Amino acid sequence: MNAHLDTDALVALLAWQVEAGAVDAIGTEPVNRLTRPPAAPPQNIPPPPERPQTQPTTPSATKPSMAQRPAPEAKPLAAASTSEASGPHLAEAAQTFEELRAAVAAFEGCALKKTATNLVFSDGNPEARLMLIGEAPGADEDRLGKPFVGVSGQLLDRMLAAVGYDRTNALITNVLFWRPPGNRTPTPTEIAACLPFVERMIEIVDPAVLVLVGGIAAKTMLARSEGIMKLRGRWLEFQTPRMSRPVPTIATFHPAYLLRSPGQKRLAWQDFLTIRRKLAEEAGSGTS
Ligand code: URA
Repeated sequence: MNAHLDTDALVALLAWQVEAGAVDAIGTEPVNRLTRPPAAPPQNIPPPPERPQTQPTTPSATKPSMAQRPAPEAKPLAAASTSEASGPHLAEAAQTFEELRAAVAAFEGCALKKTATNLVFSDGNPEARLMLIGEAPGADEDRLGKPFVGVSGQLLDRMLAAVGYDRTNALITNVLFWRPPGNRTPTPTEIAACLPFVERMIEIVDPAVLVLVGGIAAKTMLARSEGIMKLRGRWLEFQTPRMSRPVPTIATFHPAYLLRSPGQKRLAWQDFLTIRRKLAEEAGSGTS
């Protein structure tokens, strides 16, 4: 960019970018590109020693879920977990849904909070027997502070309604509580930062059935590496050491994917019929 552009020209350039659809700051920190780049490092210095490989660990160090969940970039989190303000500590201290909401609102360990407009904690009924977990808030969710309120959310609402559920008898949340800039894919660090709170939410809500909406939610909560095509449509289990029993858990396609690939709605419909059956069975067995 020309360093001699005046303010009017810069504002016009910005307006042009917004008109072209570049409405998000993609980085988490603003970068002044008019300043000089840092000087090149001096030559002929010995390379730094190789970093030791980190062992896969569970990201929620104080309260791992039963499944072995690899936590790439887990080192900073493990260090943070010793602090009073760490995610696992704050999450574990929450005894009620509202305490958990306050804990997430006070949490400073996820950089996405800096770029997001609102915390997107949950929507629906925290007493519900059906709990759904999606990926991350988008622009509409960020603006309104509620999950699944954009076009994907409208399709999810229709899918729920088709099996007799809505936001009065289901609880909806996401793997991330803040919007990734530009709706980019969440990083492992962001997921690991929010995970203790998502796990704690499941413990507190204690749903009869857990539905993982999309590949990111499925891989994260099930600690599995397979894609959504392999994981969807079958009953698996989610449990943390603080839970007295595993929750029957099923993954299904993300509605954003279904909007792009309507031919897959048939399989999603099967998944929702399976979910309805399981909820009826669980009610009949008196486990919830
Ligand atoms: N997609 C998600 O996964 N979650 C939302 O809240 C919105 C869109």
